[in-house]
Amino acid sequence: MGTNQDINYYLNPNYKIYPHFESMKITFIYGILGVLWILLSDELLSRLVGDVEVYKRVSFYKGWAYVVLTMGLIYSLILKRLSVSKSMLRKIYENFEELSSNNEELIALEEELRHQVDELDLHRNALSMSEQRYKLAIEGADCGIWDWDVENHIYYFSAKWKNYLGYEEYEIDNTFRAWLNLLHPDEKKDAIGKVSQYIKFKRDVYEDVYRMRCKDGSYKWILSKGKAIWSEDGKIIRVAGSHTDISEQKLVEEKLNALVYNDALTQLSNRLSFEEKVTRLINRKYRIHKKFALIYMDIDNFKNINDTLGHFVGDLLLKEIANVLKEKIKNPHFVARLGGDEFAIIFDDTHDREEVIDRVQDLLKYLRKRWKLQNQEFFLSFSIGIVLYPEHTDDLAVLLKYADIAMYAVKKNMKDNYCFYVDQIEEESLKRIRIVNELRRAIENQEFTLYYQPIVNLEGGHLIAVEALIRWIHPERGMIPPMEFIPLAEETGLIYDIGEWVVKTALVQKKCWEEQGYPPIKMSINVSGKRVTQDGLIDEIRQVITETQVKSDEIQLEVTETAVMLDIKASTRILKVIKDMGVKIALDDFGAGYSSLTYLQKLPIDSVKLDRDFIKNISDMGQGNVIVDSIIKLTHELGMEIVAEGIETREQLEFLKTSGCDYGQGYLFSRPVPKEEIEALLSRDMPLMA
Ligand code: C2E
Ligand code: MG
Ligand code: MG
Repeated sequence: MGTNQDINYYLNPNYKIYPHFESMKITFIYGILGVLWILLSDELLSRLVGDVEVYKRVSFYKGWAYVVLTMGLIYSLILKRLSVSKSMLRKIYENFEELSSNNEELIALEEELRHQVDELDLHRNALSMSEQRYKLAIEGADCGIWDWDVENHIYYFSAKWKNYLGYEEYEIDNTFRAWLNLLHPDEKKDAIGKVSQYIKFKRDVYEDVYRMRCKDGSYKWILSKGKAIWSEDGKIIRVAGSHTDISEQKLVEEKLNALVYNDALTQLSNRLSFEEKVTRLINRKYRIHKKFALIYMDIDNFKNINDTLGHFVGDLLLKEIANVLKEKIKNPHFVARLGGDEFAIIFDDTHDREEVIDRVQDLLKYLRKRWKLQNQEFFLSFSIGIVLYPEHTDDLAVLLKYADIAMYAVKKNMKDNYCFYVDQIEEESLKRIRIVNELRRAIENQEFTLYYQPIVNLEGGHLIAVEALIRWIHPERGMIPPMEFIPLAEETGLIYDIGEWVVKTALVQKKCWEEQGYPPIKMSINVSGKRVTQDGLIDEIRQVITETQVKSDEIQLEVTETAVMLDIKASTRILKVIKDMGVKIALDDFGAGYSSLTYLQKLPIDSVKLDRDFIKNISDMGQGNVIVDSIIKLTHELGMEIVAEGIETREQLEFLKTSGCDYGQGYLFSRPVPKEEIEALLSRDMPLMA
């Protein structure tokens, strides 16, 4: 047996080592050999050798031979065993080496595995976190999940969504058809269109808004969003996304739309809605074939109704008229209230003028009737302007302008009638419309400026106040006096913006003069009749005073009698509040209208401005003198001061002085001038006329 085989033999797992047995075995072999040697060698020797001397010598050598033999035997036995042990040790060592390198590899592998397990844990945690978050978000946001497996025709709705709409899970199939069946009939077509477009054009995200039917039959507005997965060859595989209930948002939107597009008083569409409608009609397809008539309608003398019966009845009447219009003008025709007593109507798809006239006359049958409101009976008439699309023009702005011109022409000439737009309609209407448009632009372009006219103390001729007078510096026509545009601004409501600008500019100017160290003078500001009856004036004045920090008793508001008389109750109340702030109130153009002296006492005013017409009539011993004289006396008796307007001559001045008039204003002292000239006067600090 070779050493390797021996090793394998010993390494055999079945092999068992018995150390005592092995040792005994060797010792036993040695013992037997020894005994055999002693017994056999001596016997043999005694037979072979007879000579005692030889026998002794041979015995001596036999003893040495025995030692040598047993040495050899022991040597070979030990050599064999140790060789096997050595090989075994080497083998064990090699195995150990291999084992420990394997062990190291295993440790590294284990480390790697642990790392991967940690990473997996992390991913699992993140996944469960995002899953939780996702779940929470969906639950919190009233969101539903949908997943349309396009290839397999499965349209999955999340259970939560089905429940949200009031259904049990099993009540809605997971099919595309089930989704279609839930859609509101009005939006079905569009919804299908949107999905198809999304797929066809491979858009980035799908988004649509439609209504879905709940189990109780009501509908919810849904915002549906999604994204598709495409196969490599560009085929759609699935689209998935969310459903969000936006019903409340829609409700708010609808309310806002109603506010933006409806007239609050009559609930008819308003001007914005009307203009959008006309734009839509103009832009619709196949427009060549479709004509329409655009009609402006204005109630004749509506102002009188308001003035005599009050705004409340006026509003009631507008509502009644609106109701008639709503009832008589139905889709596809359209009606709107443009503001005030002005309505607009569209008769769509009208073929000729006769057809339009028939329709207008038919409508007038219901409007030109005996109206009864609050026990008052009256008739109404209307001025109506008609423009035809596309016969007259196909431009929105021009269309509206022509309707306005046609209506205004009726109003101006005859009232109670209608007319079609014709090119030669009065130049005046055009001019009026042009000025209104330019006025609008003038506010934006800041084309206004203020001139100031001195008001002097008649005793010493000293400048004690200035009246702010507006001027319009027109880019082409130069300076335009207020009488040419103020009435129009009042008519169109632009006076509110203009008036606000005047008050602010005048007071800022006054503050400037104060800061530049000029002697203090009062600032007198004209307030339009329209504004005197509006509460907004109070806040406006209060705010400008706070902003500019001008002393309120150095501010004077001029209001005309006619304005105050139009709504004496409202104007008295408003002026009283302003007067309580310390602001002075002057009654302008006194005597020009049908003024009544009895009112003077009741109004909250501090002074009276005597109209220029009275001053014009002052002559040597004329009758006018007596009137002026008595007005001055009466005003003083009522505890008010008086200012004479339009003093142009020395005679007028002398007369007024002797009559005891307090202050004066007129070309004799100064025309209205730009601020720089007032600054020059203030610097000189000289009487303007001794
Ligand atoms: P008013 O308030 O009676 O202003 C006096 C007008 O008489 C001014 O005309 C002034 O230039 C003119 N005037 C002053 N002294 C004489 C004179 O000796 N002879 C003659 N012939 N005229 C004289 P103006 O500036 O053309 O203003 C006319 C009216 O326009 C004002 O009458 C006022 O009612 C209105 N107005 C002017 N500015 C404003 C404003 O800012 N707001 C409002 N709402 N109305 C204004
Ligand atoms: Mg005035
Ligand atoms: Mg005046």
